[in-house]
Amino acid sequence: MLSFFKRLFVDIGVDLGTANTVVYVGHKGYVVNEPSVIAYKKQNQIVAVGRDARDMLGKTHPGITVIRPLADGVIADFVAGEEMIKAFIRQAGIPRMLINRILIGVPTGVTSVEKRAVIESAQLAGARKVHLISEPMAAAIGVGVNVLGSHANMIVDIGGGTTDIAVINYGGLVVDNTIRVAGDELNEALVRYAKHELNLRIGESTAERIKMEYATLKDNEHTHFVIKGIDIQEGIPRQVEVSTAVFCDVFQDVLTSITNAIIQTLDKLPPDLAGDVIDRGIILTGGGALMEGLDGYIRNIINLPVSSPSNALFCVAEGTRKVLDNFEMYKNVLLT
Ligand code: ADP
Ligand code: MG
Repeated sequence: MLSFFKRLFVDIGVDLGTANTVVYVGHKGYVVNEPSVIAYKKQNQIVAVGRDARDMLGKTHPGITVIRPLADGVIADFVAGEEMIKAFIRQAGIPRMLINRILIGVPTGVTSVEKRAVIESAQLAGARKVHLISEPMAAAIGVGVNVLGSHANMIVDIGGGTTDIAVINYGGLVVDNTIRVAGDELNEALVRYAKHELNLRIGESTAERIKMEYATLKDNEHTHFVIKGIDIQEGIPRQVEVSTAVFCDVFQDVLTSITNAIIQTLDKLPPDLAGDVIDRGIILTGGGALMEGLDGYIRNIINLPVSSPSNALFCVAEGTRKVLDNFEMYKNVLLT
């Protein structure tokens, strides 16, 4: 009888990313994978969340406000953030009464006020118990690293708004560092490049699409791609063909900020853990890790092994799944 009731209740894992939110539902798998965006009409009426809201970014009339509540790794707009979290949990399609635990991955830099806001949203969505886990911890578990053991592992999670860097062992973060430089800044660098070098005005969504489709940091096998925008002088639409060889230069400053942050974090490491990082290297996760050649680029600068798993975008969500499935084993790694 008891096991029947146990099976009736469902646990939900949420990767609340600055760019994308992924929701895992026990027994069902991943049910939501949407941009962390919400669109509002006046009087706080929700017009769209996720992909539909993202498609409105930069394109709506003044009556609609499109917000990325977590864009910089902090909840910039609490009302919008709470509404978005509730909407995504609703999309999971589990009746409120049947939700047991909700486990949410949050950036390491969130304040206690922000944590409380996240917890409250999940409670309002129906959760009996709400737990938080730091995103690099969840990412490490998702990658398959033994976070409970004595060996230290370094995770560098490159998302949209933030890069989270952490060295993990014995179920905790030995050192961690969050910088507000990640995929969004790469898009902005591309917008600046188009403006200054090509005399072309392009939007950030266009820049992101180009980055995801064509960006490579490898220094061979170059191809060409087309950038379409508005000519700054003439004010008319124009297209320019560019070689993929430009990305190393265009992204250099942003990538230097990320590698410097990794070096600073390594510098804070207790010396006895140096051997672990030399042996195991650095694991890149998050959507930013999908950029072709990024692992080699960082390896060349830091001179340590660098790897990125193929499921880089899902590591945090996968971590929440593993924690929920093995709750007793992992309960000490949670923030609350
Ligand atoms: P967050 O955890 O902050 O929500 P994600 O881990 O979902 O972020 O990663 C989103 C970022 O990854 C975005 O900046 C997106 O442009 C970038 N991204 C996704 N796919 C690729 C790709 N193939 N190449 C380069 N960047 C990518
Ligand atoms: Mg993330």
